[in-house]
Amino acid sequence: MATTHKTRMLIIGSGPAGLSAAIYGARAGMEPIVVQGLQPGGQLTITTDVENYPGFREVIQGPWLMQEMQAQAEHVGTRMMWDTITNVDLSGDTFVATGDSGDLYEGDTLVIATGAQAKWLGVPGEQELSGKGVSACATCDGFFYRGKKVVVIGGGNTAVEEALYLTNHATEVVLVHRRDSLRSEKILQDRLFAHPKITTVWNKKVDRFLAGENGALRALALIDTETGEQSELLADGAFVAIGHAPATELFKGKLAMDDTGYLIVEAGTPKTEIPGVYAAGDVSDHVYRQAITAAGAGCMAALDAERYLAEKLHLAGITETVQG
Ligand code: FAD
Ligand code: NAP
Repeated sequence: MATTHKTRMLIIGSGPAGLSAAIYGARAGMEPIVVQGLQPGGQLTITTDVENYPGFREVIQGPWLMQEMQAQAEHVGTRMMWDTITNVDLSGDTFVATGDSGDLYEGDTLVIATGAQAKWLGVPGEQELSGKGVSACATCDGFFYRGKKVVVIGGGNTAVEEALYLTNHATEVVLVHRRDSLRSEKILQDRLFAHPKITTVWNKKVDRFLAGENGALRALALIDTETGEQSELLADGAFVAIGHAPATELFKGKLAMDDTGYLIVEAGTPKTEIPGVYAAGDVSDHVYRQAITAAGAGCMAALDAERYLAEKLHLAGITETVQG
């Protein structure tokens, strides 16, 4: 039977943003509920080594970090729900989300932390070699290619920025694009073309990623988009940089988003245009897209939600306190 779950702070998403909001919200007495979605723990659960999350001298594993974050959130009083939100109603005094299970979740405040997913090419070998040479995040994995040759696929700002970033680590960076011109900003293109470590391969699409005998990436099989000619490009690493898709389908027509679907928040805050509704992490950030920035935004959302509710209760003359 469908149940209605009520909370002072409803959090949609269980990545670093959602769980950090939960930790702060729980400690402030908000008794948060986190609806986990299809990827409990978020994007870090599909990676291995994480070396840039502060607090750990040695390399840690993404799934382990997220288990610890969840355990911490539960330890301070968060309720975790195995459900996926399929609809939201943001028009009332409380915010109502409908779960795939049929359950309803009612929050006095709402933190949207549904993240974003890298777009993949969808060609053979890509998923099999993910974490074994194929990646969608140069900031996360570039370090592992020190002194090696890497390929970046794409022609937008992300691809060019990733290629430039990778020159900090790799000895050779090859940008492979399906057309013969980039769509990225001119200033980035100028930097790319001037860089001695970067070369470009035009009019080629990736047909498949090929593994070597050690089970890691060995090469990319390419097809010329004009002549159909096939070729192989040897590489130690390949970074797919063809864009990200924020998980904002639920909020279309209900919250403002930019033309690529990212939720728009007040600059420097996680506040959406609806008081009491916050967006934190990759769902509203197409620039930084890191676990630490998502966690920081989750913290900010919880602090803002707590203040919003305290003020609302105060205005309503309710003596109950929400305290940090
Ligand atoms: P996500 O982690 O994307 O979490 C989104 C959450 O929302 C998920 O739990 C999902 O189930 C939930 N959700 C979505 N839709 C719904 C719904 N309808 N109902 C309920 N729940 C929903 N960053 C680093 O700092 N260091 C790294 O080393 C690093 N490595 C990475 C490696 C890989 C392969 C990838 C893909 C990313 C990596 N990142 C890394 C980036 C980092 O993972 C993200 O920036 C971070 O996870 C964003 O956190 P988030 O909480 O905003 O969203
Ligand atoms: P994008 O601008 O949409 O570019 C995606 C690139 O990937 C395009 O070059 C596209 O090729 C290519 N591509 C898409 N699907 C492909 C496929 N299946 N196979 C091969 N190539 C494929 O995405 P983005 O670069 O991630 O940028 C997204 C938004 O964020 C943009 O608005 C961008 O300006 C912004 N952004 C800004 C900054 C910055 O300001 N510094 C940094 C990063 C991103 P085509 O060109 O042929 O379509």
